[in-house]
Amino acid sequence: MDLPLPRYGPDIDGLVDHVLVSRYQLADRIGQLGREIAACYAGSEVTIVAVMTGSLIFLADLVRQMPLVARLDLTTVSSYPGDATTSQGPKFLLPISADLSGRHVLIVDDILDSGRTMELLIGTVNAQRPASVRSCVLLRKRRDDLSDRIDADFVGFDIENEFAVGYGLDFNHLYRNLPDVCVLSQHAIDPPAGGDA
Ligand code: 5GP
Ligand code: MG
Repeated sequence: MDLPLPRYGPDIDGLVDHVLVSRYQLADRIGQLGREIAACYAGSEVTIVAVMTGSLIFLADLVRQMPLVARLDLTTVSSYPGDATTSQGPKFLLPISADLSGRHVLIVDDILDSGRTMELLIGTVNAQRPASVRSCVLLRKRRDDLSDRIDADFVGFDIENEFAVGYGLDFNHLYRNLPDVCVLSQHAIDPPAGGDA
């Protein structure tokens, strides 16, 4: 059953078809996730490697629910360089800058889809010989077509195979600022020709 559609304001109302995860569900689950992660790393220092830009808002909320001694490092990975519309395979746009050898590394990303981004990240982190590497994603997309997809150690929500925006996730660089995880209306995806975008 769809969640009730909030009123966002006149510029956004009508662009959102339905809400996948509400701001209230996000707050609850991220509190739990923070406690799960803190229990896992209790007594150790953790180095968080977060994938920009999609994980930005999740990261900001998650780290404040994790009472741990932690470092933050940011990286950028893109599968869609320039105006590519099909995945060219994930590549680093901003490499990991931290020295990870001997550290407990937690990779934080917005969404696990094919898993190729997470595979690249884990391989790159492992090459630095960390003490441990684990992964955390806000969303894990249902992909019944992929039998051998890599999994994440910490998962916020399982979602259906729909294109999610909001709470950090974008469509064409837009909609990251929506407070809920949403699916866009078709006319937000295909604006009418000659429209003002
Ligand atoms: P993967 O490498 O697992 O196929 O894809 C992971 C990356 O693709 C994510 O970090 C995210 O940037 C992007 N992505 C995959 N699915 C979605 C989606 O439903 N919405 C948005 N906004 N980005 C997605
Ligand atoms: Mg990404």
